[in-house]
Amino acid sequence: MKLYNTASKKLETFKPLSDVVKIYTCGPTVYNFQHIGNYAAYIYWDLLVRTLIANGYQVKRVLNITDVGHLVSDADDGEDKLEKGAAREGKSVEEVANYYIDDFMKNFRALNLKEPEVIARATDYIEKDEKAVDQMTVNGYTYETSDGVYFDTAKYDKYADFAKLDLSGLQAGARVGFSDEKHNASDFAVWKFIKPGEKHAMRWDYLGRPGYPGWHLECSTIIHEELGEPIDIHCGGIDHIPIHHTNEIAQTFAAYGHELSRYWLHCDFINIDGQKISKSLGNVYLLSDLAKRGFSPMDYKMWLLSGHYQGARNFTFESLAGAKARRLNWRNRIALCYQKEIVGGTDVYERVLEAVSNNLNSAEAFAIIDSSTIALEDWKKIDELFGLNLITDTPDVSEEIVDKIIAREKARADKNYALSDAIRDNLLTRGIALRDTPDGAVWEYNN
Ligand code: AMP
Ligand code: ZN
Repeated sequence: MKLYNTASKKLETFKPLSDVVKIYTCGPTVYNFQHIGNYAAYIYWDLLVRTLIANGYQVKRVLNITDVGHLVSDADDGEDKLEKGAAREGKSVEEVANYYIDDFMKNFRALNLKEPEVIARATDYIEKDEKAVDQMTVNGYTYETSDGVYFDTAKYDKYADFAKLDLSGLQAGARVGFSDEKHNASDFAVWKFIKPGEKHAMRWDYLGRPGYPGWHLECSTIIHEELGEPIDIHCGGIDHIPIHHTNEIAQTFAAYGHELSRYWLHCDFINIDGQKISKSLGNVYLLSDLAKRGFSPMDYKMWLLSGHYQGARNFTFESLAGAKARRLNWRNRIALCYQKEIVGGTDVYERVLEAVSNNLNSAEAFAIIDSSTIALEDWKKIDELFGLNLITDTPDVSEEIVDKIIAREKARADKNYALSDAIRDNLLTRGIALRDTPDGAVWEYNN
């Protein structure tokens, strides 16, 4: 298998560190619904996991859920997103978190994404976060200001390496309004203090006052607790490279003295009709919005996997309709396999797997699927590889359907057109269309 490693900026042959491939993917901040762009990462990383499994690897994947501490601004100020969500909805922070976690998991399942072995909520790791801060402090990487404990990025000489950061430029750019107490522009909070009178429902006593962890810390802590660094693969969106992942790497080294991850995978963003997804443009589509227009989560997954995780993607409803039609075509090719024996081309599945094993090139794999004759056995493996529910959405109704087709043909032979039409219409209401061919009628899905 080959993967593009953001750390080395190279396509590398994947070699796991041990028998079980350890993967960590940065998860959602649960203060609002996740839009279709947010789900892109989970779909891409699901393909990563499925491709590893198809290549014979065992995988342990951890996904975190941020239910505290993610501030609106990356500069360690602004409101905590969870607190903001709670204020907006007049609910407690916990209620907000639970509500959006449920929605996230519901969609996760609707997208047929393999459930990670561990789903870790940030608030379950606070004590461990405190230990990590203690350790960073003992090792000389932190300093305290009036509003928190900060990581001194000047103490970690590799800080700029991962994202090729221009630290002096950053410093110069930040001089205006530069936080008086921060030593360097790139320094970040590992722990925030809650000032007297400041509203923050989630609070833990540490260092003699109430506070909460800095957002980046949970990932370092959860990885340390659940996987142990170094892990094999760490994934996230490209926006995480310069700050969030850079800070995770620094903290892990400062607290535990270890490299965080061998490979780093980053996916690019989804645009809609050529524009950024944003509230002000009114193009924040949820999966439920697609459903209202007749598109299932699987249609969206099909659309997404027809391109590559490293490229920015332009979502349009026309292209989504194209993906839906392609998936329907595949399902009908499978339906035909239930009706007559299809002799597949040789090595189709092997070629498909080879394509995705090359840095998750599902687009090329899809082209192979489009242009090959595929037997039912290979379809089953292909379906497992992409998790597109091609087989489950093409249920084995063959016997029942075949009985109906026979009944309809008999009705036609008996010139009982009322009955034959009734059978045809009944099947249509169930999304199955009969197509008369010179070899007799075949059934197809029409939706
Ligand atoms: P947000 O809730 O807006 O902070 O987004 C959470 C994460 O989702 C971001 O850090 C990105 O990695 C990812 N994300 C947000 N918008 C998009 C998008 N349009 N396309 C792909 N990923 C996105
Ligand atoms: Zn993270």
